[in-house]
Amino acid sequence: MQTVKSICCFCGVGCGVLVTTADGRVTDVRGDPSHPANFGRLCTKGASLHLTTGLEGRALYPELRRRRGEARQRVAWSEALDLTADRFAAAIRHYGPDSVGFYLSGQLLTEDYYVFNKLAKGLIGTNNLDSNSRLCMSSAVAGYKTVLGVDAPPACYDDIHHARCIFIAGSNTADAHPILFQRIEAARAANPACKLIVADPRKTNTAAAADLHLAIQPGTDVALFNGMLHVLIWEEWCDRAYIAGHTEGFAQLKAAVHEYTPKTVARLCGIPEAAVVQAARWFGESGAALSLYCQGLNQSIHGTDNNAALISLHLATGQIGKPGAGPFSLTGQPNAMGGREVGGMANLSSAHRDPANPADRAEVAKLWGVPSIAAKPGKTAVELFEAAARGEIRALWIACTNPAQSLPNQALVRQALERVDWVVLQEAFCTTETAAYADVLLPAATWPEKEGTVTNSERCISRVRAALPPPEAARQDWEIAVDFARRLGERLDGDDASRLFPYQQAEEIFNEHRETTRGRDLDITGLSYAVLDAQGPQQWPFPEGATTGTPRLYTDGHFPTTDGRAHFFCAEWQPVAEQPDSRYPFHLMTGRIRDQWHGMSRSGRVARLFNHTEAATLAMNPEDMARCGIADGDIVSVKSRRGEIKVKAAASRDIQATQVFLPMHWGSRFTADAGGNALTLETFDPRSKQPELKHAAVTVEKAALPWEMVVLRKGNAVNHMHRLQSLLQHFTYASLGLAGTDQATAVMVLRAAGESAVDDALIAQMDRLLDMGDDVSVLSYRDVRRGISKRVLVADGQVTGVRLTGETAAQGWLKEAMVTGLAFDTVRAWLLAPAAEPPDGCRQGKTVCVCHNVSETAIHDALAQGGDLPALQDILKCGTQCGSCLPELKRIVAAKDAASADR
Ligand code: SF4
Repeated sequence: MQTVKSICCFCGVGCGVLVTTADGRVTDVRGDPSHPANFGRLCTKGASLHLTTGLEGRALYPELRRRRGEARQRVAWSEALDLTADRFAAAIRHYGPDSVGFYLSGQLLTEDYYVFNKLAKGLIGTNNLDSNSRLCMSSAVAGYKTVLGVDAPPACYDDIHHARCIFIAGSNTADAHPILFQRIEAARAANPACKLIVADPRKTNTAAAADLHLAIQPGTDVALFNGMLHVLIWEEWCDRAYIAGHTEGFAQLKAAVHEYTPKTVARLCGIPEAAVVQAARWFGESGAALSLYCQGLNQSIHGTDNNAALISLHLATGQIGKPGAGPFSLTGQPNAMGGREVGGMANLSSAHRDPANPADRAEVAKLWGVPSIAAKPGKTAVELFEAAARGEIRALWIACTNPAQSLPNQALVRQALERVDWVVLQEAFCTTETAAYADVLLPAATWPEKEGTVTNSERCISRVRAALPPPEAARQDWEIAVDFARRLGERLDGDDASRLFPYQQAEEIFNEHRETTRGRDLDITGLSYAVLDAQGPQQWPFPEGATTGTPRLYTDGHFPTTDGRAHFFCAEWQPVAEQPDSRYPFHLMTGRIRDQWHGMSRSGRVARLFNHTEAATLAMNPEDMARCGIADGDIVSVKSRRGEIKVKAAASRDIQATQVFLPMHWGSRFTADAGGNALTLETFDPRSKQPELKHAAVTVEKAALPWEMVVLRKGNAVNHMHRLQSLLQHFTYASLGLAGTDQATAVMVLRAAGESAVDDALIAQMDRLLDMGDDVSVLSYRDVRRGISKRVLVADGQVTGVRLTGETAAQGWLKEAMVTGLAFDTVRAWLLAPAAEPPDGCRQGKTVCVCHNVSETAIHDALAQGGDLPALQDILKCGTQCGSCLPELKRIVAAKDAASADR
């Protein structure tokens, strides 16, 4: 048994983990008590990491297809990379360097990013290299650079504990960054005077915990921030000395926000005037206001404005560069920051240099030993795929990301992937939506096999350490890029690529990257793997001679601009790109849920992460539902100008009228369509080039799909789920996932207009895929006249497979019986019966606490006995381990208390 210190590979909080392995597999993951991000805590996702490491669905060998339409065949690494180098070299020779592109990921380590960046910009000579970080953080980058001079979050996690006002805007921190939210709750408990303000159209778990929830209309953030600044100026809560000493442009901004009176802002944002004034008062009078923000601000065509307007509040009140104060963007991905540091995006260059700046280009060329760096701007994420759809990209390399799920306007993205002559996918998982488009699949290492560094939201660089070697033929991402670069260099007129890419170890790449930062704002010349190993994670800058990292920036009021001053930016409120209208009357918002992560490539392999939210649902205001004739649980058709999906509707009072909310996670591996990004639009912010993934206009109608089939299969559940994925596209509505904990079960729910709409052969194929076809002994029942058929597979005294067709009322308790492993004899009498009534021991209801497997039903039962939160924690143990469910538990208890008070 061995324990290795590493980092959680999910979100940008960057929690430290202790990974225990035995006999070549991961047996346990715990929070690292010594890591400064989490001090030993992990959320549900981090605490489930050890359950993600099975080899089901892993890409294990290079695969190649020579013709479209053929299946890929396993080949040797040399064959896959030689042919790919031939194709890239041919494209570059015939159509120029900009005919190829690279689309990377905020999940890659800094060392991986560095090599890819050098490959594209140093060897090939194209800036066509972008990353899925464009979808998360590019507006934050643009906001920082516009106002403060460089892309550097000024604050740190410790500021949460010094803040006297915490302003969360466009972030459901409780669900998306749970460990950070626990630090916020701890800070508020220690300092009850600290006010929490949350600006969010939805009443999220974060908003529910706030002292002031500003339930603004979607996309009105700039109006709110300008209104708060108006009040700060009017009430003289600004810091005149700071403004005069350290900033430029305040007079223009003051004139620009003159019109943003509380009355005007209240009308634009749909909140009370008094709330605008209250928010400004708490922010201005606190003396230490900390703003935390994420995709709600960034994923907007005005994302840069949103960021800049919020940063202006801090500059105007002098609340930056002090303990407990500052603007602080939260990163979605674990290494979005590291990618930015090495210049791993189309409009960035190494160590925060600018490819549009000739002096910066010359510096990078000198550092790398290449003649020059291309001046032509590279294509950013959406631009790259738009160009591909026009036939301008001949060869595309996609690494560690899943654009066929995550980019907006999936119809366009999939058209682009079809059009590119040579699609390379470097991935750990062969089951992603994008894998279907790959001409070459290159198997990559993933957590916990990777070695290198990442940087989290607070500029903190941590070592990622391998606990296991990559399985079979999988290799480190940087190794694959280096191997390819050398082969490509040989083909590009004798370029000496071995000289450019001499690396044998990740550490050599880190050391080269380190040298590029010398004298820059993010100078890490004092860091090394040895320092990180000896002293633990460190925040940049960490220049040569430093003994520790830098927790917060701009403490002296000096900014990295040409004049050393921060520059206020006048942002005017403008509506979202696509406003609801009579044809598309609902404002669709997208976002994260607590227990899934991005496109579910990893979290979608863990049964217990489905127990809280089992399927994609469209949250909708109950009055809107009644008006549209939609009942809770109905399947609805959601249409935008770009596409249509079918999804289950769920009534929620957390959603305002005319707004709907859809989780971003589910794509065509788990549903019959392309998921939420079939609906979203590709329009992007002109400065940050970040698409407006958060907002779209849609119509919602009840779909007449009364016929239902439910399939449950236990034993090798992940494999069964992967097999069923091949059938999803044949159905009008499908929802696929997992359930359970130890006894994981694949769950599929299908809906159709009627029995005749589903091909019998398809059902037979499904039975065979699940090893419960006609060649296997099963309990079966068939009523042809009523269109009902049922099959039950029993093994080792337990029900291991169920298919209910046409009569599905028993699905809830049957699933419960399977995941709890009830003996066949216990449920035998009910198995083929129509009743929804479960036998004893089959409890239903969603799981609120994943760690202790505590259902909503059990919580309500305990509360009915007169319990409160401490009693729940004592009796049921819910919320006592990872704490991710605490915000929801508090809301359930508060709702029960409110209901009791009403009675
Ligand atoms: Fe991982 Fe959760 Fe920490 Fe994010 S908050 S890094 S998902 S453990």
